[in-house]
Amino acid sequence: MTEAIAVLNAGSSSLKFSVFAAVDGDLQLRLRGQLEGLFTAPKFVGKDADGVVQSEHTWPVGFQLGHEGAMAHLTAFLDAHTDGLRIKAFGHRVVHGGVEFAEPVCVDPATLKRLEAFVPLAPLHQPNNLLPIRLLLESGTKAAQVACFDTAFHRDQPLIAQMYALPHEMTAAGIRRYGFHGLSYEYIASVLAQHDERAAAGRTVVFHLGNGASMCAIHAGRSVATTMGFTAVDGLPMGTRCGSVDPGVLLYLMDQRGMDARAIEKLIYHRSGLLGMSGVSSDCRALEESDDRNAKLALDHFCYRAARELASLAATMAGLDAVVFTAGIGENSPTVRAKILEQAAWLGVALDREANRVRGFARISTAASAVSAWVIPTNEELMIARHAWRVIHA
Ligand code: AMP
Repeated sequence: MTEAIAVLNAGSSSLKFSVFAAVDGDLQLRLRGQLEGLFTAPKFVGKDADGVVQSEHTWPVGFQLGHEGAMAHLTAFLDAHTDGLRIKAFGHRVVHGGVEFAEPVCVDPATLKRLEAFVPLAPLHQPNNLLPIRLLLESGTKAAQVACFDTAFHRDQPLIAQMYALPHEMTAAGIRRYGFHGLSYEYIASVLAQHDERAAAGRTVVFHLGNGASMCAIHAGRSVATTMGFTAVDGLPMGTRCGSVDPGVLLYLMDQRGMDARAIEKLIYHRSGLLGMSGVSSDCRALEESDDRNAKLALDHFCYRAARELASLAATMAGLDAVVFTAGIGENSPTVRAKILEQAAWLGVALDREANRVRGFARISTAASAVSAWVIPTNEELMIARHAWRVIHA
């Protein structure tokens, strides 16, 4: 039997999974897929490492398949498609580890309780992330449950980078910048030396630009500053999230428009960002293809903010050796990358326009560029599998 790790990423309406087999000290992808459209139009697809569909299932529209049903379907799929593999651990993506969890952790019922305490810090994500852990613990499986946190990579940041200028008692109580997308940044940091040793030992800013978007300053492999804060709504504008706004705007909306916390939550998480600014779509591709004036303005603003943040993050490291683009937009949009890097020329980045046409891995700066620029596809699932493997063999 070959030992294997199953990775789960449970969101509000989807359950994504992958299975990695441990072969000759390496973790090799064997299966991946997802159950999406929970509660609305559920659809399951499981594929092998080459993308060949192994199993598909669609439920009727409106079928109330929730996370419990999704886990039952996934467990049956894994039982039927993992011949020769023994799943030793499930690695779970968990958005919040608070101040306490700076490393992945093997979860038992007592640890699960501690992780539930962070639900108020990430009410939209944490409960979904924790549910499969609870269900698997209750199932009596022998496989270990390893929680890997999106916040953990940022936990080493100096206090000066983590604090807000609020009363000290609040910082001590955990009202501080946590930062997210840590598993993505950690993966990029782990492979950077293969491509650019100077950057890996030096000062890099990573752009994780997807539906959720953030940026991170990584100095000698460690996170020193990031754009997201107490929650994942801060920093850059995103697909539907607003990113940083003056907190005074929220007070004004409460006072003058009678908006309460739930209405503001809807506004800043679901109705803002690229969608809100353009009135067209939250999807970068749709905006690039649109002739609408506000679609262009939304993309321009997104790139303007990213270029501003680049300078701010470079300042935290007193310089810049490399930039890396990753995630859906970062890996696939030459237009967005070019718009951002044109505004960063003064920092010493010279874009190679031909190389920038790629989708996927490439160096996109010229040979003479003082600051190198890269596109490196992220792999959060592999990062989680590596962590889970390390935790169970510690
Ligand atoms: P993610 O959350 O990482 O899956 O990224 C989703 C975002 O990537 C969406 O805004 C997509 O429009 C964007 N994206 C994916 N492919 C492309 C592409 N070929 N060109 C521009 N944007 C893309």
